[in-house]
Amino acid sequence: MLYPHLAVKDPDIHRIILSELDRRRRGIDMIPSENVTSVAVLDALGSILTDKYSEGYPGKRYYGGNEFIDQIEELARERAKALFGVTHANVQPYSGSPANQAVYMALCNPGDTVLGLSLAFGGHLTHGLKVNFSGVYYHATNYVTGADGRLDYDAIQKQAEELRPKMIVCGATAYPRQIDFQRMAAIAQSVDAFLLADISHIAGLVVGGVHPSPVGHADVVTTTTHKTLRGPRGAMILCNGLPSTPLKSVERTRENIPTLVDRAVFPGLQGGPHNHQTAAIAVALKEAAAPEFKIYAKQIVSNAQTLADALIQKGYSLVTGGTDTHLILMDVTTRGLTGIEAEVALGKAGITVNKNSVPNDPRKPFDPSGIRFGTPALTSRGMKEPEALEIAEYMDAALCHHTDDSFLSDIQRKVTMLALKFKPYPELDAAL
Ligand SMILES: *Cc1c(COP(=O)(O)O)cnc(C)c1O
Repeated sequence: MLYPHLAVKDPDIHRIILSELDRRRRGIDMIPSENVTSVAVLDALGSILTDKYSEGYPGKRYYGGNEFIDQIEELARERAKALFGVTHANVQPYSGSPANQAVYMALCNPGDTVLGLSLAFGGHLTHGLKVNFSGVYYHATNYVTGADGRLDYDAIQKQAEELRPKMIVCGATAYPRQIDFQRMAAIAQSVDAFLLADISHIAGLVVGGVHPSPVGHADVVTTTTHKTLRGPRGAMILCNGLPSTPLKSVERTRENIPTLVDRAVFPGLQGGPHNHQTAAIAVALKEAAAPEFKIYAKQIVSNAQTLADALIQKGYSLVTGGTDTHLILMDVTTRGLTGIEAEVALGKAGITVNKNSVPNDPRKPFDPSGIRFGTPALTSRGMKEPEALEIAEYMDAALCHHTDDSFLSDIQRKVTMLALKFKPYPELDAAL
């Protein structure tokens, strides 16, 4: 039996977890920010490390008994540094949003101008949405994509010159093309701004060598560990330089970024690190350093491009006309649907996507024109180009018959047959 102790102690939670596993096994999850971790990562995540308090950093803790916790955090930091080619890594942020918050706190004063990609054009909440901390405590300004849906670097340059931001944020949650980090760095340097590259979505592609790295261009890099990187929910802050001795006041200069970042994470924003999460991040980083991970990353992009090409051939309208990454943004209004209708129809067919705004969307954010989907999770399950083509057929069929529930459940049966051939956690199946 899976999770036998839980089954005895709390049958309600146990039953619900098994239902969620069953949902994953029978469907195809295409939320581009989701993935399937290894059971080794899950082992570390579910370990006894969760019980330990260890405020501070390795060698400088506010609690005793941390000799082994120190070894774990050191390993995670060393692996992160080696994998991304940086000299400093903070692996304590609880998740991507707190990691970004820490960088704002490290590099900006409240009220400073920050320039980031608008949420409505693919940016993240933490890149300057008015109701997010980034828009409440900072003077958040936004750039948008050009008419072709791609970043317009000339326009960003002009805007940066007008606004003179303290920090520019690049990176996205719904952008299907490569980001030119070198160009963004040139823009930031020309106006003496810090550049934060948030590679949460694409970290696995960067590690796998199928997306250029921001390292060497951006002053600071943040990333979640649970998206294409295929680790546990968590985040890291990466930069070059070394932290200085603590306790003296530190000016906001480039040289001081490692110290500023460490202090912003703790004690600035967080208390005790989540040591089970740190251990699981270390495991995921080891997996990402293995040669197979490069093959995996290539396959993610190849699957996404195969799917994108098939949908274009069927007459669908993709933002920017395709993808360089793991992610596809599709305007469904050209086929007479809204994003919600498409999300619901695909959901009934066993394919999970999310409704999403498209650039210059005439519709409202909670009822947008598009859907966003991607291939990291299905690629982790071992699906390749033939399956991507099969999925394109099912998506098209579901969208063409979106009001016909019995047709949709027919599709769902086919989707389930495909899904069951590619188990998300094969090792767990043995215990079911
Ligand atoms: C997912 C994401 C985040 C936030 O991560 P959470 O773990 O959900 O807080 C931040 N930035 C970008 C670009 C993301 O895609």
